[in-house]
Amino acid sequence: MTHHDSPAPARGTTTVLIDPRQYCTRTLFGIGRNYAAHARELGNPLPTEPVVFLKPASALLYNGGTIRLPPESSNVQHELELVLLLGAGGRHLSIDQAWRAIAGYGIGIDVTARDLQRKAQAAGNPWSIAKGFDTFAPISTFVASESIANPHAIGFELRVNGKLRQTGNSGEMLFNCGEIVAYLSTIFTLYPGDLIFTGSPEGVGTIRPGDRLVARFVDGSTSLEVDAAPPMRG
Ligand code: MG
Repeated sequence: MTHHDSPAPARGTTTVLIDPRQYCTRTLFGIGRNYAAHARELGNPLPTEPVVFLKPASALLYNGGTIRLPPESSNVQHELELVLLLGAGGRHLSIDQAWRAIAGYGIGIDVTARDLQRKAQAAGNPWSIAKGFDTFAPISTFVASESIANPHAIGFELRVNGKLRQTGNSGEMLFNCGEIVAYLSTIFTLYPGDLIFTGSPEGVGTIRPGDRLVARFVDGSTSLEVDAAPPMRG
């Protein structure tokens, strides 16, 4: 190979994948404004500690599913995010313990009803409705931590109807994965199966009925494919 090629995986190594459905997920954490360019595109200041919100476990959606666009919103947006799956929990984890608690890394979309979020923000109300509709938390299969070469350099991307819409890299996060898990553990008891959406890079955009969203790690180790449709009635 030439020096332009990326290195081939070491012979005999295989990527270990984890199906998140084998866990009972108690809590979905979301981190806001964790990329400087995305904070700027939404007109928000940079945080000095992680901005935390929760999504209900009922919002989970798995690979191959359909995002149901709710009638309450006319601007549902995609936020492409690296998602952490915890394999261990606890309180007051050190940074080392926090890194070790991460069982796997996946890709997800923090689906957000932007108009409802803006309205809630203006009124000083919580974001729960804007972030919490059914199907608003699609996630991929997870790549086991031992199969991740460098958690500070995970590249990921989102295509909508084949067009590249968002790209990100964990190296650009304001708070890295270990820092996020350690911080959350100062406030919440963490449990195996908990999921953490680590924030979106810039490029968020509106999801329309009929859209096909394909998110993936750039190295191809995991991907998520979902489509979008109007809500089912009844
Ligand atoms: Mg987000």
